[in-house]
Amino acid sequence: MNQYVARVLEETRAKNANEPEFLQTVEEVLTSLAPVFDQHPEYEKAALLERMVEPERTIEFRVTWTDDAGAVHVNRGYRVQYNGAIGPYKGGLRFHPSVNLSVMKFLGFEQTLKNSLTTLPMGGAKGGSDFDPRHKSDAEIMRFCQAFMTELQRHVGPDVDVPAGDMGVGAREIGYLFGQWRRVRGAYQNGVITGKGLSFGGSVVRPEATGFGAVYYTAEVLAHEGTDFKGKTVALSGFGNVAWGAAMKIAELGGKVVTLSGPDGYIYDADGVVTEEKIKYMLEMRSSGRDSVKDYADKFGCEFVAGKKPWERKVDIVMPCATQNDVNMDEAKKIVANGVKYYIEVANMPTTNEALMFLLEQKNMIVAPSKAVNAGGVAVSGLEQSQNSERISWTAEEVDAKLHQIMKNIYDSSVAAAEEFGFGYNLVAGANIAGFKKVADAMTAQGLI
Ligand code: GLU
Repeated sequence: MNQYVARVLEETRAKNANEPEFLQTVEEVLTSLAPVFDQHPEYEKAALLERMVEPERTIEFRVTWTDDAGAVHVNRGYRVQYNGAIGPYKGGLRFHPSVNLSVMKFLGFEQTLKNSLTTLPMGGAKGGSDFDPRHKSDAEIMRFCQAFMTELQRHVGPDVDVPAGDMGVGAREIGYLFGQWRRVRGAYQNGVITGKGLSFGGSVVRPEATGFGAVYYTAEVLAHEGTDFKGKTVALSGFGNVAWGAAMKIAELGGKVVTLSGPDGYIYDADGVVTEEKIKYMLEMRSSGRDSVKDYADKFGCEFVAGKKPWERKVDIVMPCATQNDVNMDEAKKIVANGVKYYIEVANMPTTNEALMFLLEQKNMIVAPSKAVNAGGVAVSGLEQSQNSERISWTAEEVDAKLHQIMKNIYDSSVAAAEEFGFGYNLVAGANIAGFKKVADAMTAQGLI
């Protein structure tokens, strides 16, 4: 490996020893960047990599809220403004008990490269809280969102930092967050947040965008192999917003999603999650706040496997849509043993580094990385910002066509970058390099900041 890259990796490990998720993503990304640094010795003098792995700003704050019984709770809020070289910071908010600084930093770093890949002018950020939305009433969710935004509002703005949703933050939460922004700031600047409802500046296709985009990207991979989704079986994990959009588009293209998963286990539906009723039911499962995938098996009478992941099933395509580190070495071995040809990451960093290396070594397998595959969500957020600033609304056909084009560009630029730097058809390395180059150019041009 390039010596400069190896040194920065060592320093980053020493400096962030308590942040395993962050180190995991830095190690994965830096491995592919080594050949870029061979060609650009000037980056070392400008400490470009040292600057890239250090967030521009990390904000932590207290969030105090009261539950329905009057008990007072304190959570920790975060906003990591990772890199603003190519545009105002942009990235989602995650409300989940697993949220900590390491998770926020890994997501912020990934977001920086992902947003760059979309070709839209968006810097990278991530935020959220260790608040657990499970089994909370609507009024409790509202009070939490209001308390969270009361603090966050001083750090965000349409030209500064534009949050959106992520796990635990959907249309309802975005509504409450924007309402509180408007109340505190006394200004109608709806470009401050994306994923809004259609009645106050949201974009059509935003809810579906991450899932649709993932399927458009996968269709490019399949086309490269001379095939398409027709008749193919797909194992998805998760049952949230991303899995929902993916299942809908896969069904439309003639494929069949046969698994969904939750913290309680997974379901296997041999007939496929293909009917409108089943796809709609995924939304109900999510809004119930129960976080249980067994509900699907109970409703549609299919198999439920408690406490396990769906990766033991024989399918054509695997798409982890749940959360980080969903596929470890043991799971990866099962996927390979089942002869799966397409391993398409959808959730952010769903694969441990060890498992990812193992999957990349398989001759008969194509691996696609999440930062490219799931970029459709933030891409349509970027389109939402454009519509807000122009005070217009595009039609669903217009937004969908732009999304489709963006996903195709991401695929093409990843293929080209991997080829250029000697990685062959390696979509993982290609996405890292293509995303990195634009940010590196902008940072270089803007001097030492
Ligand atoms: N949380 C999503 C992501 O990881 C969406 C971010 C956004 O729309 O700003 O890309």
